[in-house]
Amino acid sequence: MFNQWIKIVTLVIVSILSIINPAHADVRVFACEPEWSALVRSLGGKHVTIYTATTNRQDPHHIQARPSLIAKARRADLLICSGAELEIGWLPLLLRKSGNPKIQPGQPGHFMATDYVTLLEKPTVLDRSEGDIHAVGNPHIQLDPMRMLQVAENLSRTLAKIDPAHLADYREKLASFTGKWQDSLSRWRERAQPIKGKSIVVHHNNWVYLRKWLGLDQAATLEPKPGIPPTSSHLSQLLSGLQQTAVHKIIYASYQDDRAANWLSEKTGIPTIALDISPATDETLIQWFDRLIDQLLKVPT
Ligand SMILES: [Zn+2]
Repeated sequence: MFNQWIKIVTLVIVSILSIINPAHADVRVFACEPEWSALVRSLGGKHVTIYTATTNRQDPHHIQARPSLIAKARRADLLICSGAELEIGWLPLLLRKSGNPKIQPGQPGHFMATDYVTLLEKPTVLDRSEGDIHAVGNPHIQLDPMRMLQVAENLSRTLAKIDPAHLADYREKLASFTGKWQDSLSRWRERAQPIKGKSIVVHHNNWVYLRKWLGLDQAATLEPKPGIPPTSSHLSQLLSGLQQTAVHKIIYASYQDDRAANWLSEKTGIPTIALDISPATDETLIQWFDRLIDQLLKVPT
């Protein structure tokens, strides 16, 4: 009987200690997009608990700052998003409503991936009549593996700052991630050789980093202006322009409406592909890049 009491008391003390000693707690991460949860999973391993606000079937430009998201943000130690205005329609409200000082701008727990890389397509003149443009540059950086590596290095450092007790583990994870990434880079480059220099038509301009990396040309966008849905007059104009151009594929993100892409494909015979702009839930970044390259190389049957 006495022994049993001892056991119970010890158990209670241990659980109280684990609550009051934050060194044993996981870093609670709130990721805006699946690419950042995949990255932090590789870099944080068992020390992170991740909540992802969106799936690759959602448009990250347009999300509702709904109460369930706010509740998750309230408890987060680290917020990871693309930044550069990608989430401008919902993140500021989410941050304000969360009332969580740890993830506010300027804090170590506020990590915007685009802060750590140079951005393409910075507009020289800011004119909102030119569509829903990203005023500080194109934020869709996840499709450039070199930039992803730069983000990884900085994210690893941030994890160590928030959770210094596991610094050695974070360093080790980063080294292992970097090694695997470098190996994959050469494989991807080699595999993508056959499509180098080919032209693509895209729905929205969110493939610029992928194009630069793989050396693809962009013949046209289905949207007349960024964020403005395709119109029939714009599509007819495209159709006449495309008669003279050899286009490899019409690309749209799997969350986007496929009607404009299919219409143009029917008229021109150019195949369409829906690509996932972000990894699937539980997919690693390497698996996702492999899958993208498979899809780009696929010859229509
Ligand atoms: Zn965009």
